[in-house]
Amino acid sequence: ATPVSIVAATGNAARHGVLIKGGEHLEKAGRIRAVVLDKTGTLTRGRPLVRKVRVWRGSEKEMLLKAAAVEKLSGHPLAKPLVERAESLGKIPPAENFQVYPGCGVTGTVDGEIIRVGNRRLMQEASIPVPVDVENYLAGEESAGRTAVLVAIGEEIWGAVSIADGIRDEAKNLVSRLKAAGVRKVVMLTGDNQRVARAVARELGMDEYQAEVLPEGKVEAIRRLKQEGLVVAMVGDGINDAPALAAADVGIAMGVAGTDVAMETADIVLMSDRLDKLPYAIGLSRQTLKNIQ
Ligand code: ADP
Ligand code: MG
Repeated sequence: ATPVSIVAATGNAARHGVLIKGGEHLEKAGRIRAVVLDKTGTLTRGRPLVRKVRVWRGSEKEMLLKAAAVEKLSGHPLAKPLVERAESLGKIPPAENFQVYPGCGVTGTVDGEIIRVGNRRLMQEASIPVPVDVENYLAGEESAGRTAVLVAIGEEIWGAVSIADGIRDEAKNLVSRLKAAGVRKVVMLTGDNQRVARAVARELGMDEYQAEVLPEGKVEAIRRLKQEGLVVAMVGDGINDAPALAAADVGIAMGVAGTDVAMETADIVLMSDRLDKLPYAIGLSRQTLKNIQ
């Protein structure tokens, strides 16, 4: 390898908003054959909005304020819209004992009472019953592509907040651009539910997708692709993506909106959050490798 051309390509990439943390990563990026992408915050904008609020118990205001108290301490993309909606209703109380359950949700206490905000799995793990009418409501929201976040106060589900995020414009022709850059397989992984995942994966033309994946599951999926003999890139934005970024041959983080942990773990950072820099970076790396071989 001629280091000079690699240094030149790295500099070129930087000028285009792609930070490659060393020549060895550029060489590997030139051999990427499978690209695994996280959905929320990566393929979608990461700026979701509250579309609907439903309560089965108590008042909407109390439910939202208590849920927001906990979500305020979370950096998850679903937290912000929920907190903003609550702020328009009143003063958010302080929460304590904040805990994150990656891929499931968050918990905390408000006035000594446990508040849980997250998906079915979070509720099931805490042995909180999910009644049939709640389950039916979730199914309806999910089929429409919305993520319904459940809120339990004490040991009972009080309501659900439906949140939906838009797909990034650059995600729409991403698969074909990646294929043109020499990638054979494009896979979407998400902690989100099956119905939402299917809708997004179909729209984007993914070769494969996997829903309801926990962070360890993302690592597992990457190992499987590696075993197929493919050089695997993982693209993610969140804390929960850090293990997968580390497990991939090339870890790629979204800049700006991405979390610090993801950006530190990654080998390549797409600055200014531009997903269209992904096929560019892979194409450039591939071309550089060709030139020095
Ligand atoms: P993705 O892999 O798509 O980025 P995550 O693994 O972060 O998604 O989350 C998976 C699911 O877990 C979310 O769709 C949501 O249902 C639930 N969840 C995770 N974190 C939170 C949170 N802070 N508040 C509410 N729900 C959450
Ligand atoms: Mg994410």
